[in-house]
Amino acid sequence: MMPASPSQTIAVRLAEARGRIVDAAERSGRSPGAVTLVAVSKGFDADAVRAARDSGHVDFGESRAQELEAKAADLGPGVRWHFVGRLQRNKVKVVVGLASLVHSVDREPLAVAISERAVGLGRIQPVLVQVNVGEDPAKAGVALPEAADVVSRVRAMDGLSCQGLMTIPPAGVDPRPLFARLRDLRDELRPRFPEVQHLSMGMTSDFDIAVEEGATIVRVGEAVFGPRPTPA
Ligand SMILES: *Cc1c(COP(=O)(O)O)cnc(C)c1O
Repeated sequence: MMPASPSQTIAVRLAEARGRIVDAAERSGRSPGAVTLVAVSKGFDADAVRAARDSGHVDFGESRAQELEAKAADLGPGVRWHFVGRLQRNKVKVVVGLASLVHSVDREPLAVAISERAVGLGRIQPVLVQVNVGEDPAKAGVALPEAADVVSRVRAMDGLSCQGLMTIPPAGVDPRPLFARLRDLRDELRPRFPEVQHLSMGMTSDFDIAVEEGATIVRVGEAVFGPRPTPA
C-alpha cells in the first residue's frame, strides 16, 4: 500500500476526532451537532490548514496575531478563524474583523480595546470571556468569583457580543470538575444573559471529557494535525 499523504492523514484524523465527539456526546445524552470542532493550527503551516479545509473543515484556531494574519491572507475566504491565544492590546487591530470569535478575553482592558476597534470598524465582534477555573497562576483568565461581574460589563460594551466562556485547565489535574464548574457558571449566568451560551473547553488531551461536561466548542490541535513541529 502507498503511504498516506499528509492531507489524507489530516482528513482521517479529523474524521477520528469528530467520531470521538459523537461518541462523547452520545455517552452524555447530548446532540453531537451542538459541538463545534475548532482545528487549532498554530505552529502548523498553511498547507496543513488547506488540506483540512479542502476535506470540508471550516473552523480553525490560532493563538498568535501575526500567524493568524499570514494564514488568513494565504488561505483566503472559506475559513472561519478563531483566536484562542493570549492577545496583546497592540495586536487587537489585527485580530478584530479577522476572527469570527475571540475566545480569550481574559481582562477588561483587553475587552475595552476590542470594543473600540470593533466600533471603529462598524462591526460587532463576538467574544468569549476566559475564566481561570483552575485558579492556576500560570494561566490567563478572570478569577471565578469575578467572572459574573466581568461578563456583565463586557456584554454591555459597544461592538462586543459576549457569547460564552472559555477555559484552559492547569496541566496535571483532573479537568472534569473544572469543566463542570465552567458549565455551572454558564448556567448561572444564562437567565440574566441569554446570549452567554458557549463553553469553549477541551484540547487534544481532554476534549472527550469536555464534551461529556457540556463543551459546545472544543479546540483541538495535535489530534487533527499530528505532533506540533514548532512549540507555540
Ligand atoms: C494550542 C492550543 C490548543 C490546542 O492544543 P492541542 O494540545 O494541540 O490540542 C487549544 N487551546 C489553546 C488556547 C491553545 O493554545
